[in-house]
Amino acid sequence: MTELSDRRLLLVHAHPDDESINNGATMAKYAAQGAHVALVTCTLGEEGEVIPPSLAHLTADREDALGAHRVGELTAAMKELGVDDHRFLGGAGRFRDSGMMGIEQNHREGAFWAADVDEAAVPLVEVIRELRPQVLITYDPDGGYGHPDHIQAHRVAMRAADLAAEPAFRKDLGDPHEIAKIYWNRVPRSVAERLFRELRDTALTGLPWAAAADIDDVPGVVDDAVVTTEIDGRAFAARKAAAMAAHATQVAVEGPWFGLSNDLAQPLFDIEYYELVRGRSGAAPGERETDLFAGLPAGGPADQRKAR
Ligand SMILES: [Zn+2]
Repeated sequence: MTELSDRRLLLVHAHPDDESINNGATMAKYAAQGAHVALVTCTLGEEGEVIPPSLAHLTADREDALGAHRVGELTAAMKELGVDDHRFLGGAGRFRDSGMMGIEQNHREGAFWAADVDEAAVPLVEVIRELRPQVLITYDPDGGYGHPDHIQAHRVAMRAADLAAEPAFRKDLGDPHEIAKIYWNRVPRSVAERLFRELRDTALTGLPWAAAADIDDVPGVVDDAVVTTEIDGRAFAARKAAAMAAHATQVAVEGPWFGLSNDLAQPLFDIEYYELVRGRSGAAPGERETDLFAGLPAGGPADQRKAR
């Protein structure tokens, strides 16, 4: 059996690029500290739009070759973050990007949104029982902003976390494992408001985007009090920016700002925020955690269980 690092972090995301935009600084920071950082991406992002005109031929309505291209972008991004454990849920191409909510592609054969949650959770249960992470990061129940693949990624991640801990479930997939702490991606409203104000008031002149996005375009914005945990990734901001830029069909980066295919500027967060939804906070009452592993015994409950 492979040797496990003391600290193991698993992230579940919908499309290539979501990991770098949401958690790039966190991933780079923990990887640099020697934690095992593993990413499971649920689709190849086949239905994405494409920013560079020279690559516009890749889109689903033309050559339908975007998925394979984005696998390469994701590989490059992981290199920037120093993360070498990356997998696609059930293998590359098992689940297809469902496109934005309400379109025909949502219900196509193989679309992630059309998948049965319990079935889609099975390959993730296998990953959880193999890696035995103490910490899981995924989206909130709305997927941050309502994209069907993000909602489904949330459902599959939460279901897999439950099933992985269930001793009677699929013993062939490994020993049961309970993830000690589960986090959802969040952004405190005050931080988003401050950065958007700065973007509109001063930064927008000189940037390649004509307008700023709206705060509602940022996934996971919540009242500050909901946020339990903040990871200071400022030392890894350049790595995060490079990882985002590696997703060149999807993201354009300029300093601390970036734009998606909607051509609107947004702030790049180098402090990343979370809501602890399962497990006990390692912070003093009324304070935010500054470490995802705070309060966990060294080696974590997985190893104690195994040693028993
Ligand atoms: Zn996405």
